[in-house]
Amino acid sequence: MDLQPSLDFVYQSLPHHVLFGAGKLAEVKSQVERVGSRRAMVLSTPGQEELARRVAGLLGEWCVAIHPHAIQHVPYETVKAAMKDVHQHNVDLLVAVGGGSTVGLAKGVALETKLPILAIPTTYAGSEMTHIWGISKDGHKTTGRDSVVKPACVIYDPELIVSLPPAMSLTSGVNAMAHAVEALYAQNQSPIASMMAEESIRQLALGLPRVVAQPGDVEARATSMYGAWLAACVLDMVGMALHHKLCHTLGGSFGMPHAETHTVILPYAIAYNASSIGNALSRMARALGCEPMQVASTVQELSRQNGGPTSLRELGFEEKNLQRASELAAQKSYPNPRPVVQEDILFLLQQAWSGALPQQA
Ligand code: NAD
Repeated sequence: MDLQPSLDFVYQSLPHHVLFGAGKLAEVKSQVERVGSRRAMVLSTPGQEELARRVAGLLGEWCVAIHPHAIQHVPYETVKAAMKDVHQHNVDLLVAVGGGSTVGLAKGVALETKLPILAIPTTYAGSEMTHIWGISKDGHKTTGRDSVVKPACVIYDPELIVSLPPAMSLTSGVNAMAHAVEALYAQNQSPIASMMAEESIRQLALGLPRVVAQPGDVEARATSMYGAWLAACVLDMVGMALHHKLCHTLGGSFGMPHAETHTVILPYAIAYNASSIGNALSRMARALGCEPMQVASTVQELSRQNGGPTSLRELGFEEKNLQRASELAAQKSYPNPRPVVQEDILFLLQQAWSGALPQQA
């Protein structure tokens, strides 16, 4: 097995402060103090308003507003509405409690106001560790990178993710694993990112089946949250490739659900690239405890055995759209270990649509 990392790299990391552990939410007020804020606004989705109120309670008089209106894909109107509350209450810190959608809303506001963010993630999506933002306007999602949106502080408390239903936990966790997988063969990979990525895959593969079997197991939640944190770190450090491009196309142009789509596509993206990623494949195999030739099928089995989706068909994707999706995904050039050829992408998507066993070349 080729396990030696490439020793030709650039490494850069933006400053951040992370607290990790069961019960760490209790330290939110001291972290707000450390950031130097006295007028925080807590953001959440409508479904997580109760948790937002709990956080506001912990902050006491240092919380001046609660904004429980985050929704998927960060529509620009929701950023404008949150900005109105920011100005009305003279807010000096955004406390985002929730998944990628809530952190995404806080990032949208930070982009306009330069306010700092304290993030308290409750899914495995990973937005809290990145300086990547995304805002939807006129039916189109624009994304970019700006250090101003990277949360200044992140509190990972595995007790807060216990309520995430098993099915969502699995797909959210495989979504995280996809960041780590693509980091291992990123064009700008570094040995540090690869080390974290390999460990991320190991921890997620270990934690997720236990989480699905026992959603209330805080230790298993911590294992998978640790894996997700590592994945989020590498997502911020290096560029993603074919897998993320395909999921972005399927989500952006066909309205496919984010984490579920990642879960279905990942084994096929690995299979597509397998012949061009010897070192990365060996490291994935070591993390998963399988042979390199079995990595794609092992990732698919992780989903299948834990009740996750394995085909685009079961997610409601229409077969007639496969051709168009392959054209869109192949349209723009982007770095990928194996050249992105439209006919080959169509074959990949046909396989993913039917849920066939992913064939590594
Ligand atoms: P989400 O934030 O949309 O949450 C999905 C649903 O789960 C929401 O209704 C939420 O209220 C609920 N929920 C969240 N945590 C819960 C919990 N612990 N218990 C019960 N319910 C809970 O989903 P997500 O997968 O976290 O985020 C997906 C979005 O994040 C996508 O739009 C994606 O593009 C974005 N994202 C961005 C980055 C980045 O770096 N910018 C990285 C990853 C994902």
